Amino acid sequence: MGDCALGNGKKKGCLIFGAHFYQLGFVLKIFTIVGARPQFIKASVVSRAIKKSECIDEVVLHTGQHFDQNMSDVFFEQLNIPRPDVRLDVNGGSHGEMTGRMLIEIERAIKDYAPDRVLVYGDTNSTLAGALAAAKLHVPVAHVEAGLRSFNMNMPEEINRILTDQLSDLLCCPTDAAVQNLNNEGFDSKPAKVLKVGDVMQDSALLFSKFALPPQGLGGQSNYVLATLHRAENTDDIGRLSSIVQALNAIHKNVAEVILPLHPRTRAAISDQGLDLDVKIIDPVGYFEMLWLLRNCGLVLTDSGGVQKEAFFFGKPCVTMRDETEWVELIEVGANVLVGADRDAIIEHVQLNIGRIVKDELSLYGGGKASGEIVRHLQG
Ligand code: UDP
Repeated sequence: MGDCALGNGKKKGCLIFGAHFYQLGFVLKIFTIVGARPQFIKASVVSRAIKKSECIDEVVLHTGQHFDQNMSDVFFEQLNIPRPDVRLDVNGGSHGEMTGRMLIEIERAIKDYAPDRVLVYGDTNSTLAGALAAAKLHVPVAHVEAGLRSFNMNMPEEINRILTDQLSDLLCCPTDAAVQNLNNEGFDSKPAKVLKVGDVMQDSALLFSKFALPPQGLGGQSNYVLATLHRAENTDDIGRLSSIVQALNAIHKNVAEVILPLHPRTRAAISDQGLDLDVKIIDPVGYFEMLWLLRNCGLVLTDSGGVQKEAFFFGKPCVTMRDETEWVELIEVGANVLVGADRDAIIEHVQLNIGRIVKDELSLYGGGKASGEIVRHLQG
């Protein structure tokens, strides 16, 4: 055992993981940057693991990219995430404008807090702005969910994740495919550390599934289709959006009830385009309600990244309304199928798969140990 000499919250009894940092008795200051719904969920489990470490203090910055009760606050309340130390209010506007405003304010905050390391998650504008601000100030960056690729540069997320990986020195990959992607980009001969740690979303699904609770007004449903829809490639393309809306309506009418917690971006796009969506629409739900919906559904129909995996964690088949996925292993094991925005393909694959039970025979995502692994490597 070593002894942490500094007085900023964590004082003594830290384990020595071989890093001279600890042998000298310092407390590592991690500056976590989050801003969007999936990042709150991912950070919740890593923050818990950090809290258990005697040698890391965490400062949390929320960019404000998602900001209202049901896209942000509910996750902090349910998942008991530390209240952000810094709360920005950067949302709306174009990608460049949003990222630029975040960059200015995150740089200021990093200078104020002088962290030892910045920790970013996923692939949003908050991720890129955080990594860029840190790298320019020579603060090392750790990226959780490193190495994921869709190979579609039209996706803003793909640009964000490629650039963030380039700026990071600790790349925490969820899967073998992610490690392979980085090796293909030459990371195996760079000084940056590339690690397969598993998927933090599996940690959170396992940790919180006992708190699953039905969304208001729901309760006895089963074997329904749980749908989510928010990717810009679908919401911003009238042809794709209209085809998906037609498929959802047909499934709801002829196959099974479709329950759709509707993302604000999609709600606005459907209304702007005057489309008639006739399924069970509910407001975006909290994480506990989402876990209940996942547990009780017969199939997941989505264009989300994270929800594809969550379907798998709950043994549900997934039909993905995209042309490619970063989670290629789910396609390989037959748990997930890509149908793009093709109306007939969406209906056909929902009919074929609903009610099927999916098994995780290969422990594809690490089995709930990712956050512990990440913290171990942050320390070492
Ligand atoms: N989610 C939620 N409530 C909802 C819809 C999604 O809690 O109404 C959760 C979902 O369970 C997953 C995360 O939000 O953990 C995924 O976020 P999203 O689909 O917005 O982003 P992506 O994963 O595509 O980046």
